[in-house]
Amino acid sequence: MKKKIRIDIVTLFPEAVEPYLAASILGRAQKSKKLTMKIHQLRKWSHDKHGRVDDRPFGGGAGMVMKVLPFHEALVALKLRTKVGKKTVAAKKTRVILTSAKGKMFTQSDAKRLLKYNRLVFLCGRYEGVDERVAKLADEEISIGPYVLTGGELAAMVMTDAIVRLCPGVLGAEASLIEESWIDGTSVEYPQYTRPEIYLGWRVPPILLSGDHAKIASWRKHLTRGSG
Ligand code: SAH
Repeated sequence: MKKKIRIDIVTLFPEAVEPYLAASILGRAQKSKKLTMKIHQLRKWSHDKHGRVDDRPFGGGAGMVMKVLPFHEALVALKLRTKVGKKTVAAKKTRVILTSAKGKMFTQSDAKRLLKYNRLVFLCGRYEGVDERVAKLADEEISIGPYVLTGGELAAMVMTDAIVRLCPGVLGAEASLIEESWIDGTSVEYPQYTRPEIYLGWRVPPILLSGDHAKIASWRKHLTRGSG
């Protein structure tokens, strides 16, 4: 399967996102055209002469809330949402994901599921979060864990990373995707070793040096935690 995916990230801090995506396997995936990434500065769609995208919360309270309009305009500009009369409808085979501490928890099976789309767009909040109506523009709201971050950028990068490494041809050896942690949602991989055989007195399990592939396979199976 020749899978190509495009991922857009809408953020107030493109400079925090770009270097990570340019490095290593994600950078290589972009060079090989399996992955197209576009990082967008949300302020482009602020319609405010000072570029402001946040405002005080209705009803009072601490901090600032990000406005819905810039996110909406961003999605229309990116053609992920097309205005049809007064309605805004989703473009095909794309998925808009709002990063949110309140969202459904991201798992390996979400990474696999999201890889099926041709295009993903991540919306990153900051400050106290986003106007609740931003969630209406998104197809889903996802959290990367039960804690609160200062912004959605790390969440978008975590999900991008987990999704892109599942694209055929992105990792050097396809085999490394077959036996891996969380592949079935519960189990974690057996321990791995490389040279040297002894380090600070810690020995590599002798069975791994035995050359007996059947024994090695059963040792690994035994030490795959959480399966079955
Ligand atoms: N007041 C909000 C937190 C806002 S944090 C609350 O209590 O839920 C600011 C932004 O960081 C959020 O809008 C979201 O985009 C991002 N964020 C924070 N924690 C996150 C998490 N666990 N997963 C994904 N995104 C998160």
